[in-house]
Amino acid sequence: MTGSNGTNGVKVTKPTFPAEAATKEYAASLDAQDPLRELRDQFIIPSKANLASKKLAKPGLSKESSIYFCGNSLGIQPKAVAKYMEAQLDTWSSIGVCGHFTDMEDSPLKPWQLLSEQASESMCKLVGASPEEVAAMATLTVNLHLLLASFYKPTEKRQKILMDWKAFPSDHYAIESHIAWHGLDSKENMVLIGPDEDTYEIPTEKILSIIDKHAEDAAVLLLPGIQYYTGQLFDIPRITEYAQSRGLIVGWDLAHAYGNADVKLHDWNVDFAAWCTYKYGNAGPGAMGGLFVHERHGKVDYSEGEDSPKFRHRLTGWYGGDRSVRFQMDNKFKPIPGANGYVVSNPSVIDLTTLLASLSVFDQTSMAELRQKSIKLTAYLEFLLLKDTDEKTRLFEIITPSDPNARGAQLSLLLKPGLLHKVAERLQDAGIICDKREPGVVRAAPVPLYNTFSEVYTFVETFKGALAEQ
Ligand SMILES: *Cc1c(COP(=O)(O)O)cnc(C)c1O
Repeated sequence: MTGSNGTNGVKVTKPTFPAEAATKEYAASLDAQDPLRELRDQFIIPSKANLASKKLAKPGLSKESSIYFCGNSLGIQPKAVAKYMEAQLDTWSSIGVCGHFTDMEDSPLKPWQLLSEQASESMCKLVGASPEEVAAMATLTVNLHLLLASFYKPTEKRQKILMDWKAFPSDHYAIESHIAWHGLDSKENMVLIGPDEDTYEIPTEKILSIIDKHAEDAAVLLLPGIQYYTGQLFDIPRITEYAQSRGLIVGWDLAHAYGNADVKLHDWNVDFAAWCTYKYGNAGPGAMGGLFVHERHGKVDYSEGEDSPKFRHRLTGWYGGDRSVRFQMDNKFKPIPGANGYVVSNPSVIDLTTLLASLSVFDQTSMAELRQKSIKLTAYLEFLLLKDTDEKTRLFEIITPSDPNARGAQLSLLLKPGLLHKVAERLQDAGIICDKREPGVVRAAPVPLYNTFSEVYTFVETFKGALAEQ
């Protein structure tokens, strides 16, 4: 199965809306039909009054919820976080070190030694993997470093890393420093994949042709699942298969895809992946990250004896060691088979607790259902934005692909020069939170877990109102 970024593994067609859909009433009717509408109640949405009290919105706004379209940057707090945290603090205060192994009947959380596995069991569903292929650990950039240490093995011939031309700075630094760490020239060995001049979308065919060009001298392809700036969702299965057929190892940074796109890392045969959990994942600022290592790379082979396990090279630590021997302190490393063999340190149970709270919301639905709503929500946003405007006079351009198979929740709106500041101010005044990127991009992400069609409607009214003032 290739080329399937939509729902249930088939290409989706874009939902269309009749002309009369551009009303408040129509938006409300879409909300009333939304099977996921009740999930919103499980989140604490910042109120306009709270924002105003910090000068983050106009004074005098009511206690009603703000319109939070910034889940691509930091998700809002699930109500479950407080409950889970309280349970965890209770365990720690009431039984101390015994919390490592003791089951607390009235807690939703497993003993600390089993907590990261509890996280893997839920998190794997968001990325289309088995629990053994997923580890909750560390943070995104750290995990990229650990994965590159294991998967980037430059040889005499193959030294280059193919990557996004506008990679998120942290990814750029991580790749650059790995190349240098091997004593190689980073400029020469970073191959940037970008769009054609004056365009934003990178065609899959172009990516494939760059892979062809470097079929003899590249070691790794590492791309974002969704590009943070343009919101482009890449054709992960097709690109992965193609690059592997040319001898490359393929990794994906799913920072903007986790909890947003319906990815199937196992079936798509991806070699490795990493993500943060605080964007569409809602696990809290700086929350614990996750990584994926395909089953075939996580095997531990004992055919040469109990004391000589063979496994893929990695940077190791005691928490990647099998739990049954972890406390024997005999300095014989026997990795946990799968991604958890990549864990290094004793994980923070506080971080695991907020992560598990956020996952408890995802556990009530599925990525297929979320994606189905998301496609409609974002298509509605696009429909309203473009309605009654034409390309020549429009003061903004949507630089996110218009094909729903090639984007997630976010639309990136590139404003004509000089408008960003004013428009951002109007949105802020109205209690709308979304993200601005200089020189002229507003990134708006209606999130299917907690945003509504009515909010999309109000956002577009405010946005177009601000442009009309120019
Ligand atoms: C958000 C984001 C990061 C952040 O990395 P941290 O290690 O969590 O600080 C890195 N890369 C990409 C592509 C991102 O979108």
